[in-house]
Amino acid sequence: MLGLMMAEPLRVATIIEHAAKWHSDTEIVSRLPEGGIHRYTYAAANRRSKQLAQALLKLSTENGDRVGTLAWNTHRHFELYYGVAGIGAVCHTINPRLFPEQLVYIINHAEDRFLFFDLTFLPLVERLAAVCPTVEKWVLMAGREHLPAQSALPGLCSYEDLLAAETGDYEWPTFDENTACSLCYTSGTTDQPKGVLYSHRSTVLHAYGISLPDSLGCSALDVIMPVVPMFHVNAWGLPYAAPLNGSKLVLPGAGMDSASLYELFESENVTFSAGVPTIWLALLQFMREGQRQFTTLRRTVVGGASCPPALMKAFVEELNVTITHAWGMTETSPLGTGSRLKATQLDLSSTEKAAVLAKQGRVVFGVDMKIVGDDGHELPHDGVAFGDLLVRGPWVVADYFRSGTPGELTSDGWFRTGDVATIDPDGFMQITDRSKDVIKSGGEWISSIDLENLAVAHPAVAEAAVIGVHSDRWSERPLLIVVRRPGMELSADELLNFFRGRVAKFCEPDAVEFVDSLPHTATGKLLKTQLRKDFAGYSVA
Ligand code: ADP
Repeated sequence: MLGLMMAEPLRVATIIEHAAKWHSDTEIVSRLPEGGIHRYTYAAANRRSKQLAQALLKLSTENGDRVGTLAWNTHRHFELYYGVAGIGAVCHTINPRLFPEQLVYIINHAEDRFLFFDLTFLPLVERLAAVCPTVEKWVLMAGREHLPAQSALPGLCSYEDLLAAETGDYEWPTFDENTACSLCYTSGTTDQPKGVLYSHRSTVLHAYGISLPDSLGCSALDVIMPVVPMFHVNAWGLPYAAPLNGSKLVLPGAGMDSASLYELFESENVTFSAGVPTIWLALLQFMREGQRQFTTLRRTVVGGASCPPALMKAFVEELNVTITHAWGMTETSPLGTGSRLKATQLDLSSTEKAAVLAKQGRVVFGVDMKIVGDDGHELPHDGVAFGDLLVRGPWVVADYFRSGTPGELTSDGWFRTGDVATIDPDGFMQITDRSKDVIKSGGEWISSIDLENLAVAHPAVAEAAVIGVHSDRWSERPLLIVVRRPGMELSADELLNFFRGRVAKFCEPDAVEFVDSLPHTATGKLLKTQLRKDFAGYSVA
Protein backbone atom coordinates (compact mmCIF):
# COMPACT_ATOMS: atom_id res chain seq x y z
CA MET A 1 0.00 0.00 0.00
CA LEU A 2 1.37 3.44 -0.86
CA GLY A 3 1.28 6.34 1.56
CA LEU A 4 -1.10 9.15 0.80
CA MET A 5 1.27 12.09 1.09
CA MET A 6 2.14 14.61 -1.61
CA ALA A 7 4.76 13.26 -3.99
CA GLU A 8 6.66 16.54 -4.24
CA PRO A 9 10.03 15.84 -5.93
CA LEU A 10 13.02 17.26 -4.02
CA ARG A 11 14.62 20.00 -6.14
CA VAL A 12 17.34 22.50 -5.25
CA ALA A 13 15.36 25.46 -6.68
CA THR A 14 12.77 24.92 -3.94
CA ILE A 15 15.49 25.85 -1.43
CA ILE A 16 16.08 29.31 -2.90
CA GLU A 17 12.34 29.73 -3.45
CA HIS A 18 11.80 28.95 0.25
CA ALA A 19 14.51 31.43 1.33
CA ALA A 20 13.08 34.11 -0.97
CA LYS A 21 9.62 33.67 0.54
CA TRP A 22 10.38 33.11 4.24
CA HIS A 23 13.75 34.80 4.71
CA SER A 24 13.31 37.38 2.00
CA ASP A 25 15.39 40.13 3.63
CA THR A 26 18.21 37.89 4.91
CA GLU A 27 21.44 38.92 3.24
CA ILE A 28 24.05 37.38 1.00
CA VAL A 29 27.24 39.44 1.17
CA SER A 30 30.07 38.86 -1.31
CA ARG A 31 33.55 40.22 -1.80
CA LEU A 32 33.87 40.60 -5.55
CA PRO A 33 36.95 39.46 -7.45
CA GLU A 34 36.76 42.69 -9.49
CA GLY A 35 36.76 44.71 -6.23
CA GLY A 36 34.20 45.92 -3.72
CA ILE A 37 31.50 44.31 -1.60
CA HIS A 38 28.14 43.23 -3.02
CA ARG A 39 25.11 42.93 -0.75
CA TYR A 40 21.58 41.75 -1.52
CA THR A 41 18.83 39.50 -0.16
CA TYR A 42 17.56 35.97 -0.77
CA ALA A 43 14.57 37.47 -2.56
CA ALA A 44 16.87 39.32 -4.99
CA ALA A 45 19.09 36.24 -5.38
CA ASN A 46 16.09 34.11 -6.37
CA ARG A 47 15.00 36.70 -8.94
CA ARG A 48 18.47 36.92 -10.47
CA SER A 49 18.81 33.11 -10.51
CA LYS A 50 15.56 33.07 -12.51
CA GLN A 51 16.94 35.71 -14.90
CA LEU A 52 19.95 33.45 -15.41
CA ALA A 53 17.64 30.48 -16.02
CA GLN A 54 15.76 32.48 -18.67
CA ALA A 55 19.04 33.50 -20.33
CA LEU A 56 20.24 29.88 -20.43
CA LEU A 57 16.95 28.72 -21.94
CA LYS A 58 17.25 31.43 -24.60
CA LEU A 59 20.65 29.91 -25.44
CA SER A 60 18.77 26.63 -25.97
CA THR A 61 20.22 24.95 -22.89
CA GLU A 62 18.75 21.49 -22.55
CA ASN A 63 18.14 19.13 -19.68
CA GLY A 64 21.47 17.59 -18.63
CA ASP A 65 23.70 20.13 -20.43
CA ARG A 66 26.83 20.88 -18.45
CA VAL A 67 27.53 24.50 -17.54
CA GLY A 68 31.09 24.94 -16.25
CA THR A 69 32.22 27.49 -13.68
CA LEU A 70 35.72 28.72 -12.85
CA ALA A 71 34.82 30.97 -9.99
CA TRP A 72 35.35 32.01 -6.36
CA ASN A 73 32.73 32.19 -3.64
CA THR A 74 30.47 35.03 -4.82
CA HIS A 75 26.77 35.82 -5.26
CA ARG A 76 27.05 35.17 -9.02
CA HIS A 77 28.43 31.69 -8.40
CA PHE A 78 25.55 31.16 -5.95
CA GLU A 79 23.09 32.19 -8.69
CA LEU A 80 24.70 29.67 -11.05
CA TYR A 81 24.13 26.89 -8.49
CA TYR A 82 20.39 27.62 -8.61
CA GLY A 83 19.82 29.06 -12.09
CA VAL A 84 21.55 26.17 -13.86
CA ALA A 85 20.17 23.34 -11.71
CA GLY A 86 16.74 24.97 -11.58
CA ILE A 87 16.15 24.29 -15.28
CA GLY A 88 17.45 20.71 -15.15
CA ALA A 89 20.98 21.50 -16.42
CA VAL A 90 24.16 20.60 -14.52
CA CYS A 91 26.33 23.14 -12.71
CA HIS A 92 29.87 21.87 -13.14
CA THR A 93 32.16 23.64 -10.67
CA ILE A 94 35.80 23.43 -11.75
CA ASN A 95 38.76 23.92 -9.43
CA PRO A 96 40.85 26.71 -11.01
CA ARG A 97 43.88 25.76 -8.92
CA LEU A 98 44.35 22.53 -10.87
CA PHE A 99 47.10 22.30 -13.46
CA PRO A 100 46.01 23.57 -16.92
CA GLU A 101 46.26 20.01 -18.35
CA GLN A 102 43.88 18.77 -15.66
CA LEU A 103 41.47 21.64 -16.38
CA VAL A 104 41.44 20.80 -20.07
CA TYR A 105 40.93 17.12 -19.28
CA ILE A 106 37.99 17.90 -16.98
CA ILE A 107 36.25 20.42 -19.28
CA ASN A 108 36.54 18.06 -22.25
CA HIS A 109 35.53 15.02 -20.26
CA ALA A 110 32.43 16.81 -18.96
CA GLU A 111 31.75 18.31 -22.42
CA ASP A 112 30.81 21.66 -20.92
CA ARG A 113 28.69 23.75 -23.33
CA PHE A 114 29.09 27.03 -21.49
CA LEU A 115 31.83 28.27 -19.24
CA PHE A 116 31.27 31.03 -16.70
CA PHE A 117 34.45 32.52 -15.18
CA ASP A 118 35.58 35.27 -12.81
CA LEU A 119 37.69 38.17 -14.03
CA THR A 120 40.68 36.66 -12.17
CA PHE A 121 40.65 33.75 -14.61
CA LEU A 122 40.49 35.71 -17.90
CA PRO A 123 44.18 35.05 -18.77
CA LEU A 124 43.70 31.36 -17.87
CA VAL A 125 40.59 30.80 -20.01
CA GLU A 126 42.17 32.59 -22.96
CA ARG A 127 44.81 29.84 -22.92
CA LEU A 128 42.24 27.05 -22.45
CA ALA A 129 39.66 28.03 -25.09
CA ALA A 130 41.50 26.68 -28.12
CA VAL A 131 41.74 23.19 -26.60
CA CYS A 132 38.19 23.04 -25.17
CA PRO A 133 36.11 22.58 -28.34
CA THR A 134 32.80 21.74 -26.65
CA VAL A 135 32.52 25.18 -25.03
CA GLU A 136 30.28 27.32 -27.26
CA LYS A 137 30.10 30.37 -25.08
CA TRP A 138 32.39 31.94 -22.47
CA VAL A 139 30.74 34.24 -19.95
CA LEU A 140 32.70 36.72 -17.83
CA MET A 141 31.11 36.90 -14.38
CA ALA A 142 31.20 40.69 -14.12
CA GLY A 143 29.73 43.80 -15.73
CA ARG A 144 30.32 44.78 -19.36
CA GLU A 145 32.93 47.36 -18.33
CA HIS A 146 35.31 44.50 -17.45
CA LEU A 147 35.16 42.82 -20.88
CA PRO A 148 38.51 42.92 -22.69
CA ALA A 149 38.65 45.18 -25.77
CA GLN A 150 39.66 42.19 -27.85
CA SER A 151 39.33 38.49 -27.22
CA ALA A 152 39.33 35.24 -29.17
CA LEU A 153 36.95 33.59 -26.68
CA PRO A 154 33.94 32.21 -28.60
CA GLY A 155 30.67 34.03 -27.80
CA LEU A 156 32.28 36.07 -25.01
CA CYS A 157 29.77 38.23 -23.14
CA SER A 158 29.31 39.63 -19.67
CA TYR A 159 27.17 37.94 -17.03
CA GLU A 160 25.43 41.18 -16.17
CA ASP A 161 24.46 41.73 -19.83
CA LEU A 162 23.01 38.21 -19.99
CA LEU A 163 20.86 38.86 -16.93
CA ALA A 164 19.85 42.38 -17.89
CA ALA A 165 18.04 41.04 -20.97
CA GLU A 166 15.69 38.94 -18.79
CA THR A 167 12.74 39.77 -16.49
CA GLY A 168 13.02 37.09 -13.80
CA ASP A 169 9.28 36.38 -14.17
CA TYR A 170 9.67 32.64 -14.23
CA GLU A 171 8.35 29.61 -12.36
CA TRP A 172 10.90 26.93 -11.48
CA PRO A 173 9.81 23.77 -13.34
CA THR A 174 9.08 20.44 -11.65
CA PHE A 175 10.93 17.30 -12.69
CA ASP A 176 12.19 13.98 -11.35
CA GLU A 177 14.21 14.44 -8.15
CA ASN A 178 16.85 12.02 -9.44
CA THR A 179 17.76 14.49 -12.22
CA ALA A 180 21.44 15.53 -12.08
CA CYS A 181 22.02 19.02 -10.68
CA SER A 182 25.76 19.46 -10.22
CA LEU A 183 29.07 17.88 -11.10
CA CYS A 184 32.35 17.99 -9.24
CA TYR A 185 35.58 16.19 -10.08
CA THR A 186 37.79 14.73 -7.35
CA SER A 187 40.98 16.72 -7.01
CA GLY A 188 43.06 13.82 -8.23
CA THR A 189 45.25 13.55 -5.13
CA THR A 190 45.78 9.87 -5.78
CA ASP A 191 44.49 9.36 -9.35
CA GLN A 192 43.07 11.07 -12.49
CA PRO A 193 40.16 13.38 -11.58
CA LYS A 194 36.83 11.54 -11.58
CA GLY A 195 33.41 13.16 -11.97
CA VAL A 196 30.81 12.86 -9.21
CA LEU A 197 27.36 13.73 -10.51
CA TYR A 198 25.00 14.83 -7.73
CA SER A 199 21.23 14.66 -8.06
CA HIS A 200 18.59 17.09 -6.79
CA ARG A 201 17.50 14.42 -4.33
CA SER A 202 21.00 13.75 -2.97
CA THR A 203 21.74 17.48 -2.70
CA VAL A 204 18.55 18.37 -0.81
CA LEU A 205 18.92 15.41 1.56
CA HIS A 206 22.57 16.31 2.18
CA ALA A 207 21.58 19.93 2.89
CA TYR A 208 19.12 18.65 5.52
CA GLY A 209 21.80 16.31 6.88
CA ILE A 210 24.44 18.99 7.37
CA SER A 211 21.87 21.28 9.01
CA LEU A 212 21.36 18.88 11.93
CA PRO A 213 22.66 20.10 15.30
CA ASP A 214 25.08 17.16 15.71
CA SER A 215 26.29 17.63 12.16
CA LEU A 216 27.47 21.06 10.96
CA GLY A 217 24.38 22.60 12.60
CA CYS A 218 22.95 25.66 10.81
CA SER A 219 20.23 28.03 12.01
CA ALA A 220 18.51 31.27 11.05
CA LEU A 221 20.58 32.89 13.82
CA ASP A 222 23.82 31.99 12.06
CA VAL A 223 25.96 34.10 9.79
CA ILE A 224 27.80 31.50 7.72
CA MET A 225 31.00 32.14 5.83
CA PRO A 226 32.24 29.13 3.87
CA VAL A 227 35.98 29.55 3.45
CA VAL A 228 35.98 26.26 1.61
CA PRO A 229 35.64 27.22 -2.07
CA MET A 230 32.40 26.67 -3.98
CA PHE A 231 34.46 24.53 -6.40
CA HIS A 232 35.49 22.17 -3.57
CA VAL A 233 32.52 19.81 -3.24
CA ASN A 234 29.96 22.64 -3.42
CA ALA A 235 31.55 24.44 -0.45
CA TRP A 236 30.56 21.34 1.56
CA GLY A 237 26.88 22.02 0.88
CA LEU A 238 26.72 25.34 2.76
CA PRO A 239 25.34 27.34 -0.22
CA TYR A 240 22.31 25.01 0.05
CA ALA A 241 22.12 24.71 3.84
CA ALA A 242 22.30 28.50 4.44
CA PRO A 243 19.15 29.39 2.42
CA LEU A 244 17.42 26.19 3.62
CA ASN A 245 17.78 27.49 7.19
CA GLY A 246 17.57 31.20 6.46
CA SER A 247 21.13 31.86 7.64
CA LYS A 248 22.93 34.96 6.39
CA LEU A 249 25.61 33.94 3.90
CA VAL A 250 28.99 35.66 3.53
CA LEU A 251 31.04 34.78 0.46
CA PRO A 252 34.71 35.80 0.66
CA GLY A 253 35.49 35.89 -3.09
CA ALA A 254 39.13 35.50 -4.02
CA GLY A 255 40.39 36.89 -0.70
CA MET A 256 41.28 33.70 1.13
CA ASP A 257 44.31 35.23 2.92
CA SER A 258 44.04 35.56 6.71
CA ALA A 259 43.83 39.38 6.81
CA SER A 260 40.97 39.53 4.28
CA LEU A 261 39.12 36.69 5.99
CA TYR A 262 39.49 38.27 9.42
CA GLU A 263 38.16 41.57 8.15
CA LEU A 264 34.98 39.87 6.83
CA PHE A 265 34.55 37.70 9.94
CA GLU A 266 34.44 40.90 11.96
CA SER A 267 32.59 43.31 9.65
CA GLU A 268 29.79 40.84 8.84
CA ASN A 269 29.46 39.32 12.35
CA VAL A 270 30.16 35.80 11.10
CA THR A 271 29.26 33.12 13.69
CA PHE A 272 30.15 29.97 11.82
CA SER A 273 32.69 28.99 9.16
CA ALA A 274 34.24 25.98 7.44
CA GLY A 275 37.50 25.14 5.68
CA VAL A 276 40.54 22.88 5.35
CA PRO A 277 43.22 22.78 8.11
CA THR A 278 45.78 24.84 6.15
CA ILE A 279 43.48 27.88 6.20
CA TRP A 280 43.04 27.66 9.99
CA LEU A 281 46.73 27.04 10.66
CA ALA A 282 47.54 30.25 8.78
CA LEU A 283 44.72 32.16 10.47
CA LEU A 284 45.88 31.04 13.92
CA GLN A 285 49.34 32.43 13.24
CA PHE A 286 47.80 35.71 12.01
CA MET A 287 45.61 35.99 15.13
CA ARG A 288 48.57 35.30 17.42
CA GLU A 289 50.85 37.79 15.68
CA GLY A 290 48.40 40.67 16.11
CA GLN A 291 47.00 39.40 19.46
CA ARG A 292 43.60 39.52 17.78
CA GLN A 293 40.27 38.01 18.91
CA PHE A 294 37.03 37.18 17.13
CA THR A 295 33.98 39.14 18.25
CA THR A 296 31.26 36.81 16.91
CA LEU A 297 32.91 33.71 15.39
CA ARG A 298 32.23 30.78 17.71
CA ARG A 299 32.31 27.62 15.58
CA THR A 300 34.09 26.30 12.56
CA VAL A 301 34.13 23.01 10.75
CA VAL A 302 37.52 21.65 9.73
CA GLY A 303 37.79 18.78 7.29
CA GLY A 304 39.15 17.68 3.94
CA ALA A 305 42.34 16.57 5.72
CA SER A 306 43.09 15.56 9.29
CA CYS A 307 42.74 18.44 11.76
CA PRO A 308 45.71 18.44 14.17
CA PRO A 309 44.52 18.25 17.81
CA ALA A 310 46.98 21.07 18.60
CA LEU A 311 44.99 23.34 16.25
CA MET A 312 41.68 22.43 17.93
CA LYS A 313 43.16 23.14 21.35
CA ALA A 314 44.62 26.50 20.31
CA PHE A 315 41.35 27.62 18.71
CA VAL A 316 39.23 26.86 21.73
CA GLU A 317 41.69 28.02 24.40
CA GLU A 318 43.14 31.12 22.71
CA LEU A 319 40.27 32.24 20.45
CA ASN A 320 37.15 30.77 22.06
CA VAL A 321 36.22 29.08 18.76
CA THR A 322 35.11 25.43 18.75
CA ILE A 323 36.32 23.29 15.88
CA THR A 324 34.08 20.47 14.70
CA HIS A 325 36.32 17.93 13.02
CA ALA A 326 34.54 16.41 10.01
CA TRP A 327 35.40 13.80 7.41
CA GLY A 328 34.09 13.50 3.89
CA MET A 329 34.89 13.11 0.23
CA THR A 330 33.74 14.48 -3.11
CA GLU A 331 32.06 11.09 -3.43
CA THR A 332 30.03 11.63 -0.23
CA SER A 333 28.65 15.11 -1.09
CA PRO A 334 30.88 15.54 1.11
CA LEU A 335 29.63 15.04 4.67
CA GLY A 336 30.41 11.59 6.07
CA THR A 337 31.07 12.12 9.78
CA GLY A 338 31.42 14.94 12.30
CA SER A 339 32.81 14.89 15.82
CA ARG A 340 30.23 15.94 18.42
CA LEU A 341 30.01 14.48 21.92
CA LYS A 342 27.26 12.11 23.04
CA ALA A 343 25.42 12.54 26.36
CA THR A 344 27.36 9.63 27.90
CA GLN A 345 30.64 11.48 27.24
CA LEU A 346 29.78 14.68 29.09
CA ASP A 347 31.37 13.45 32.31
CA LEU A 348 34.72 12.67 30.69
CA SER A 349 37.74 14.77 31.69
CA SER A 350 38.61 17.63 29.37
CA THR A 351 41.60 15.66 28.02
CA GLU A 352 39.38 12.67 27.28
CA LYS A 353 36.79 14.88 25.61
CA ALA A 354 39.48 16.48 23.46
CA ALA A 355 40.65 13.01 22.39
CA VAL A 356 37.11 12.07 21.31
CA LEU A 357 36.60 15.34 19.45
CA ALA A 358 39.91 14.96 17.64
CA LYS A 359 38.53 11.88 15.90
CA GLN A 360 36.74 12.30 12.56
CA GLY A 361 33.50 11.55 14.37
CA ARG A 362 30.23 9.75 13.95
CA VAL A 363 27.73 9.51 11.13
CA VAL A 364 24.42 11.35 10.97
CA PHE A 365 21.35 9.60 9.58
CA GLY A 366 21.91 9.45 5.83
CA VAL A 367 25.33 7.81 5.96
CA ASP A 368 26.19 4.34 7.17
CA MET A 369 29.76 3.08 7.53
CA LYS A 370 31.79 0.00 8.40
CA ILE A 371 35.41 -1.09 8.44
CA VAL A 372 36.54 -4.34 6.87
CA GLY A 373 39.73 -6.38 6.88
CA ASP A 374 41.63 -7.63 3.82
CA ASP A 375 39.24 -10.58 3.51
CA GLY A 376 36.22 -8.23 3.39
CA HIS A 377 34.97 -9.24 6.86
CA GLU A 378 33.59 -6.52 9.07
CA LEU A 379 35.93 -5.52 11.93
CA PRO A 380 34.82 -4.78 15.51
CA HIS A 381 34.03 -1.29 16.81
CA ASP A 382 36.71 -1.40 19.50
CA GLY A 383 38.70 1.69 18.52
CA VAL A 384 41.74 -0.51 17.89
CA ALA A 385 41.07 -2.73 14.87
CA PHE A 386 41.65 -0.78 11.66
CA GLY A 387 40.61 -1.60 8.12
CA ASP A 388 39.19 -0.23 4.87
CA LEU A 389 36.39 2.26 5.46
CA LEU A 390 33.21 1.58 3.47
CA VAL A 391 30.18 3.90 3.34
CA ARG A 392 26.73 3.99 1.82
CA GLY A 393 23.67 6.21 1.76
CA PRO A 394 21.49 8.43 -0.43
CA TRP A 395 24.22 11.08 -0.86
CA VAL A 396 27.07 8.64 -1.59
CA VAL A 397 28.23 8.12 -5.21
CA ALA A 398 27.04 5.00 -7.02
CA ASP A 399 29.25 5.42 -10.10
CA TYR A 400 31.53 8.03 -11.65
CA PHE A 401 30.38 10.27 -14.51
CA ARG A 402 31.15 8.75 -17.90
CA SER A 403 33.78 6.56 -16.27
CA GLY A 404 33.54 3.66 -18.69
CA THR A 405 34.60 1.37 -15.85
CA PRO A 406 32.56 -0.15 -13.05
CA GLY A 407 32.36 2.05 -9.93
CA GLU A 408 34.12 1.45 -6.66
CA LEU A 409 31.21 -0.39 -5.06
CA THR A 410 31.46 -3.74 -3.32
CA SER A 411 29.16 -6.48 -4.59
CA ASP A 412 26.76 -5.68 -1.73
CA GLY A 413 26.61 -1.97 -2.54
CA TRP A 414 29.13 -0.21 -0.27
CA PHE A 415 31.49 2.50 -1.56
CA ARG A 416 35.20 1.90 -0.93
CA THR A 417 36.58 5.20 0.40
CA GLY A 418 40.27 4.33 0.08
CA ASP A 419 40.71 5.42 3.72
CA VAL A 420 41.84 3.22 6.57
CA ALA A 421 40.05 3.77 9.87
CA THR A 422 39.04 2.55 13.31
CA ILE A 423 35.57 2.86 14.85
CA ASP A 424 35.24 2.98 18.66
CA PRO A 425 32.42 1.54 20.80
CA ASP A 426 30.65 4.95 20.79
CA GLY A 427 30.67 4.95 16.98
CA PHE A 428 33.44 7.53 16.54
CA MET A 429 35.47 6.88 13.42
CA GLN A 430 39.13 7.80 13.24
CA ILE A 431 41.06 7.92 9.99
CA THR A 432 44.43 6.24 10.37
CA ASP A 433 45.51 7.05 6.87
CA ARG A 434 44.67 6.95 3.21
CA SER A 435 45.37 3.40 2.13
CA LYS A 436 48.02 4.77 -0.26
CA ASP A 437 49.74 6.81 2.47
CA VAL A 438 49.90 4.22 5.23
CA ILE A 439 53.50 3.21 6.05
CA LYS A 440 54.07 -0.52 6.14
CA SER A 441 57.05 -1.17 8.39
CA GLY A 442 57.83 -4.86 8.82
CA GLY A 443 54.49 -6.39 9.75
CA GLU A 444 53.23 -3.16 11.36
CA TRP A 445 51.21 -0.30 9.91
CA ILE A 446 52.22 3.21 10.91
CA SER A 447 49.77 6.11 10.61
CA SER A 448 51.34 9.11 8.88
CA ILE A 449 48.50 11.29 10.22
CA ASP A 450 49.33 10.51 13.88
CA LEU A 451 52.96 11.50 13.34
CA GLU A 452 52.04 14.70 11.47
CA ASN A 453 49.62 15.69 14.22
CA LEU A 454 52.31 15.22 16.84
CA ALA A 455 54.94 17.12 14.84
CA VAL A 456 52.76 20.23 14.51
CA ALA A 457 52.25 20.18 18.28
CA HIS A 458 55.94 21.18 18.57
CA PRO A 459 56.09 24.97 18.98
CA ALA A 460 58.77 25.41 16.30
CA VAL A 461 56.93 23.43 13.60
CA ALA A 462 54.71 25.28 11.13
CA GLU A 463 53.73 22.30 8.96
CA ALA A 464 54.74 18.64 8.69
CA ALA A 465 54.31 15.67 6.38
CA VAL A 466 55.27 12.05 6.87
CA ILE A 467 55.93 9.60 4.04
CA GLY A 468 57.28 6.08 3.91
CA VAL A 469 60.83 5.72 2.56
CA HIS A 470 62.84 2.62 1.73
CA SER A 471 64.50 0.60 4.46
CA ASP A 472 66.36 -2.66 3.70
CA ARG A 473 65.38 -4.16 7.00
CA TRP A 474 61.76 -2.97 7.44
CA SER A 475 60.83 -2.33 3.79
CA GLU A 476 59.40 1.11 4.74
CA ARG A 477 60.12 3.57 7.53
CA PRO A 478 58.63 7.03 8.29
CA LEU A 479 60.46 10.13 7.10
CA LEU A 480 59.32 13.40 8.68
CA ILE A 481 59.44 16.46 6.41
CA VAL A 482 59.08 19.74 8.24
CA VAL A 483 58.66 23.47 7.64
CA ARG A 484 60.02 25.43 10.62
CA ARG A 485 58.06 28.34 12.05
CA PRO A 486 59.60 31.61 10.80
CA GLY A 487 62.45 32.79 13.00
CA MET A 488 62.61 29.62 15.11
CA GLU A 489 65.50 27.21 15.51
CA LEU A 490 64.95 23.46 15.51
CA SER A 491 67.33 20.59 14.88
CA ALA A 492 66.46 17.11 13.63
CA ASP A 493 67.64 15.53 16.92
CA GLU A 494 65.54 17.90 18.99
CA LEU A 495 62.46 17.02 16.98
CA LEU A 496 63.12 13.28 17.07
CA ASN A 497 63.50 13.53 20.87
CA PHE A 498 60.09 15.17 21.00
CA PHE A 499 58.56 11.93 19.67
CA ARG A 500 60.21 9.73 22.35
CA GLY A 501 57.60 8.43 24.76
CA ARG A 502 54.80 10.16 22.85
CA VAL A 503 54.37 7.38 20.26
CA ALA A 504 55.19 3.66 20.21
CA LYS A 505 58.90 3.12 19.60
CA PHE A 506 58.39 1.44 16.22
CA CYS A 507 56.37 4.46 15.00
CA GLU A 508 59.05 7.07 15.73
CA PRO A 509 60.27 8.68 12.49
CA ASP A 510 63.74 7.56 11.42
CA ALA A 511 64.82 10.87 9.95
CA VAL A 512 63.82 14.52 9.59
CA GLU A 513 64.29 16.73 6.54
CA PHE A 514 63.67 20.48 6.71
CA VAL A 515 62.13 22.25 3.70
CA ASP A 516 60.99 25.83 2.98
CA SER A 517 57.48 24.77 1.99
CA LEU A 518 55.42 21.65 1.40
CA PRO A 519 53.54 20.92 -1.84
CA HIS A 520 49.73 21.13 -1.65
CA THR A 521 46.91 19.94 -3.86
CA ALA A 522 44.46 22.35 -5.45
CA THR A 523 42.23 21.94 -2.40
CA GLY A 524 45.01 22.69 0.07
CA LYS A 525 45.92 19.16 1.14
CA LEU A 526 49.45 17.81 1.43
CA LEU A 527 50.47 16.46 -1.96
CA LYS A 528 52.17 13.26 -0.90
CA THR A 529 52.55 11.91 -4.43
CA GLN A 530 54.88 14.88 -5.06
CA LEU A 531 56.79 14.33 -1.81
CA ARG A 532 57.26 10.68 -2.69
CA LYS A 533 58.74 11.80 -6.03
CA ASP A 534 60.93 14.46 -4.37
CA PHE A 535 62.27 11.92 -1.89
CA ALA A 536 62.41 8.94 -4.27
CA GLY A 537 65.64 7.05 -3.65
CA TYR A 538 65.83 8.30 -0.03
CA SER A 539 66.56 5.43 2.28
CA VAL A 540 67.18 5.00 5.98
CA ALA A 541 69.56 2.57 7.59
P1 ADP B 1 40.67 13.95 -3.29
O1 ADP B 1 40.28 12.52 -2.98
O2 ADP B 1 40.91 14.12 -4.73
O3 ADP B 1 41.72 14.52 -2.38
P2 ADP B 1 38.46 14.83 -1.73
O4 ADP B 1 38.35 16.25 -1.34
O5 ADP B 1 37.23 14.12 -2.08
O6 ADP B 1 39.41 14.80 -2.95
O7 ADP B 1 39.23 14.08 -0.57
C1 ADP B 1 38.68 13.09 0.25
C2 ADP B 1 39.74 12.52 1.13
O8 ADP B 1 40.29 13.51 2.00
C3 ADP B 1 39.23 11.45 2.07
O9 ADP B 1 39.12 10.21 1.43
C4 ADP B 1 40.31 11.46 3.15
O10 ADP B 1 41.45 10.71 2.76
C5 ADP B 1 40.69 12.90 3.22
N1 ADP B 1 39.99 13.54 4.34
C6 ADP B 1 38.87 14.28 4.30
N2 ADP B 1 38.53 14.72 5.53
C7 ADP B 1 39.46 14.22 6.38
C8 ADP B 1 39.68 14.29 7.80
N3 ADP B 1 38.89 15.01 8.59
N4 ADP B 1 40.74 13.63 8.31
C9 ADP B 1 41.57 12.91 7.51
N5 ADP B 1 41.42 12.83 6.18
C10 ADP B 1 40.39 13.45 5.62
